[in-house]
Amino acid sequence: MVSTSPRIGVLALQGDVREHLRVLTNLGATATPVRRPSELSDVDGLVIPGGESSVIDKLSRAFGMRETLREAIAAGLPAYGTCAGLILLADRIVDGIQGQQTFGGLDVTVRRNAFGSQVDSFEVDLEVPVLGPPAVHAVFIRAPLVEQAGPGVEPLATLDDGSVVAVRQGSILGTSFHPEVTGDARFHALFLDMVRARIR
Ligand code: GLN
Repeated sequence: MVSTSPRIGVLALQGDVREHLRVLTNLGATATPVRRPSELSDVDGLVIPGGESSVIDKLSRAFGMRETLREAIAAGLPAYGTCAGLILLADRIVDGIQGQQTFGGLDVTVRRNAFGSQVDSFEVDLEVPVLGPPAVHAVFIRAPLVEQAGPGVEPLATLDDGSVVAVRQGSILGTSFHPEVTGDARFHALFLDMVRARIR
């Protein structure tokens, strides 16, 4: 049993894998890149990084990861997705490229590139009640929004206009933004708490 140093995989098909590995390692987790289906059985939780969701989707199929990933998440493997990772964890997607699929797990509809091409990226300070003060400095890069969420989904943060940008459902956490690039490790720490609660 692992209680103090959970083993966390970071899906390493494309995207900002190294940033997540660094944050997780600094928090005391044993963090490793995951590229093969067999590597999934060695981890207590999985982070899906930001990057390009349609590329990660395609590579997951090319690497034979997709079904194993879907099944592991459906069976309760804790997962945290940032930006593209949130898209991949959504059960439903709007504005994906033709044929784009997700792994699913979160009972949400996510709109990809929700801020349009005019606003590629922006930063904002977000109140996140589950983390307490201070506000989280959130970096959005061609970010998705949670447009609709089922009853089991807990919104964790919203923009001033009410748009949902962070959610939790059971052992799955998703953020539209990138805590791995700001030096604020509280979302990753929350995820590790969720993983520990599950493996205890
Ligand atoms: N727009 C990207 C996508 O569709 C996500 C961007 C990101 O992860 N920063 O996957």
